[in-house]
Amino acid sequence: MNKQTLLLATNNQHKKYELQQILSSINLITPEEIGIDFNCDETGSTFLENSMLKAETLYRIAGKPVIADDSGLCVKGLDGAPGIYSARYGSPENGPDIESQERNTYLLENMAKLSGAAERSATFVCCMSAIINDYRVYTVQETMEGYIADVPYGAGGFGYDPVFYLPKYSKTVAELSDTEKNRISHRGRAAAKLGLLLEG
Ligand code: IMP
Repeated sequence: MNKQTLLLATNNQHKKYELQQILSSINLITPEEIGIDFNCDETGSTFLENSMLKAETLYRIAGKPVIADDSGLCVKGLDGAPGIYSARYGSPENGPDIESQERNTYLLENMAKLSGAAERSATFVCCMSAIINDYRVYTVQETMEGYIADVPYGAGGFGYDPVFYLPKYSKTVAELSDTEKNRISHRGRAAAKLGLLLEG
């Protein structure tokens, strides 16, 4: 049987790689791989709004089945920041984007002003949406709970992975294998559930 193909609402190859491992029964392609110029301002005020905004924008442009996600890190002691602004946290407004390592340093500097373990508790959130046609639309939002580490550890993953500590594993997410991360992560859990909905 031919695999279902979904157009992924990002040109980020890291996201594509992670998602393709989880959604192995679906063929994912990025807009740029089929010559579509896709860029979407994330103007929503929630992960759900931004995820649907990216999915709807790409679906309108391409007229093909699409999948989109919006994700981020919410830290208790920072009142849920950086949240939906995770991708550009610490970057100058309208200025160039900073590297993940600098972003993590910026986060840890802000954490240093806080006291107590509860303040360091944090949640990774991922909202994933698929539009198959005008009438079949699905969205799933999932989380991964942990704590912000005192210093970064580990070389795997991306973004905030080196500063996201999982007490159950005594490791940061950057110290997990791809398979371990995908099994427990916000994105892995959302994608697995969405995959089941798409197969049904
Ligand atoms: P967006 O979903 O493309 O808007 O960006 C989400 C941002 O949140 C990323 O650029 C990362 O900084 C962060 N993020 C989301 N998921 C993860 C993850 O699994 N590990 C580390 N950082 C993540």
